[in-house]
Amino acid sequence: MEKGMTGEIHELIECLAENHCLSEKEYARLIENRDEEAAALLAERAVEVRKSIYGSAVYTRGLIEISNICRNDCLYCGIRRSNTNVQRYRLSREDILACVREGYGLGFRTFVLQGGEDGFYSDEVLGDIVSLIKTEFPDCAVTLSMGERSLESYRFLHDAGADRYLLRHETADAIHYAKLHPPRMSFENRIRCLYHLKETGYQTGCGFMVGSPFQTAQTLAKDLKFVEEFHPDMCGIGPFIPHHDTPFGSMAAGTLELTLFLLSMIRLIYPQVLLPATTALGTIHPKGRELGILAGANVVMPNLSPTGVRKKYELYDNKICTGDESAQCRTCLDQRMRAIGYYLAVDRGDIKK
Ligand code: SAM
Repeated sequence: MEKGMTGEIHELIECLAENHCLSEKEYARLIENRDEEAAALLAERAVEVRKSIYGSAVYTRGLIEISNICRNDCLYCGIRRSNTNVQRYRLSREDILACVREGYGLGFRTFVLQGGEDGFYSDEVLGDIVSLIKTEFPDCAVTLSMGERSLESYRFLHDAGADRYLLRHETADAIHYAKLHPPRMSFENRIRCLYHLKETGYQTGCGFMVGSPFQTAQTLAKDLKFVEEFHPDMCGIGPFIPHHDTPFGSMAAGTLELTLFLLSMIRLIYPQVLLPATTALGTIHPKGRELGILAGANVVMPNLSPTGVRKKYELYDNKICTGDESAQCRTCLDQRMRAIGYYLAVDRGDIKK
């Protein structure tokens, strides 16, 4: 039989709920000694605070996967450069605008343009797409998730109208980072990019995979400390899921249970943070996204990419929603959210500070 939560763990949770921070050691202790009871208390506190700020609204972002061409070779990622089995594609300006127009009609007011680090999207090309979207839909926010670029590039794209930028830090431990990435990628640059984004004026998102190879309670504690100190507007976390054509193809996936626990912790660290229940969470469990919301998340990111390319943006195996039309994705998620007492908002979904 499972041993009940100890007084110490209970105290750590209440301390986190009250003070929004713990020491790195305490974060690790909470993670290492969690049990079902602790997860339930943590989720209760997380949902209380989330409801007090965002009510029952769930913000949506229409995700447009604009290219699977990537110069990088991250060891975990299905679209890494070395994977020669990927059928590569990139969307044109017209393709992207068509996705945005469709999404607007469906109720999306934020569009996330995400892709591999594809040199085709120079500042001029990407800036042109961003400004066309902002001109046609001035009531919408544009989020970019196009990887590491220079400070000048981030400034240029911000001037073109981009409001937000997502760049997961992947891990806040430099040694762990080096085990997940090839030598030419650097932890220092990743973190520098995040500070550049913030300094440029973007609403900035960081994040990490849960259960990535070589992750420990100590590296997770560093991730949480980083979130606490960096204070991102968004924080994207989802389970690592292996992709068969990568060096980590036979590694175990991250778990639903730990992902939910960390979602609740992050909500308590930064009550206002925009926290998605990710597609990866929906992939490892049929009710993953609902459970994510019930653990304290407040954002979902339905896929708006053209159906024909969705399977090609395969970051990991068995990704969900690759066959659905965009309208189906939104309707399906709306029904799922209503079934648990929440609803999808037609709103830009800015952070409430
Ligand atoms: N190239 C951009 C970048 O580096 O930020 C955006 C695209 S990248 C594919 C988006 C995110 O996918 C990464 O930050 C990573 O955390 C996640 N990802 C990649 N491979 C994954 C996997 N096997 N399981 C879960 N998430 C994965």
